[in-house]
Amino acid sequence: MNTVSPTRRPRVMAIANQKGGVGKTTTAINLATAMAAVRKKVLIVDLDPQGNASTGLGINRANRKVSSYHVLMGEASLDQAVVKSDVPGLDLVPSGVDLAGAELELVSVARRESRLRDAISGRLADMAYDYIYIDCPPALGLLTLNALVASDKVLVPLQCEFFALEGVSHLVKTIERVKKAFNPDLDIQGIVLTMFDRRNNLSDAVAADVRGYFGAKVFDTVIPRNVRVSEAPSHGKPVLLYDLRSQGAQAYVHLAGEVLKREKQEVRA
Ligand code: ADP
Ligand code: MG
Repeated sequence: MNTVSPTRRPRVMAIANQKGGVGKTTTAINLATAMAAVRKKVLIVDLDPQGNASTGLGINRANRKVSSYHVLMGEASLDQAVVKSDVPGLDLVPSGVDLAGAELELVSVARRESRLRDAISGRLADMAYDYIYIDCPPALGLLTLNALVASDKVLVPLQCEFFALEGVSHLVKTIERVKKAFNPDLDIQGIVLTMFDRRNNLSDAVAADVRGYFGAKVFDTVIPRNVRVSEAPSHGKPVLLYDLRSQGAQAYVHLAGEVLKREKQEVRA
């Protein structure tokens, strides 16, 4: 990575939480789209065998022949796996069916935790991205480990429901372990509360709990539960393109603004 000037180096961010259905993929797609809308060049790496980020961006199976699986196994370079999405400035490394087996296959390969980092750093000079967002699977196995080792920061979507905090303590421990062993500068950039339901007292209670525990790490922006957000993937579109005026889309626009603000503060600090 040190052959690239710091200004050109993309920020790599893992979007992680070992719980499924908390809004990782939705956040990856829509944060990336909001960044692309302000002329950032963004790459999403779909590391989930379910391939929801690939489907949600309307990438059909025929365009997923070279996937993140091949990148992890060293059978393709990162740029060979890149496909363009319909969003200008937003590219994707799709997931493929083989990825389900990668968790096991990786166990016996060299530098098994660093495969993605190696693939990204090997191609950085040729790929002028501002951001690489890694959409993680709902587990803390070798795929998520590869994402954490490759990343500068972690963004954690947290659904406003009972037990939200319990699950995240496991993730925090994993991040600490990755920091010690592979990636000393890794840090949580922020926690984003998702699927917030104004009519539900529990949502408020959970949000207060999470803010009490994580303090300023929690983004001010809260993503509301919004039917347009859940409809958008079946149209192969980010909600920002499907219905920009919806509350869900607007929340992701705000979140992107907050992410940019935090990054400026980090540079100054
Ligand atoms: P994960 O990637 O963590 O498994 P997803 O982003 O796929 O979670 O979200 C799980 C489900 O919830 C999906 O069907 C998605 O469309 C829906 N969803 C996500 N965020 C919202 C939201 N803010 N409002 C309504 N539905 C949402
Ligand atoms: Mg997902």
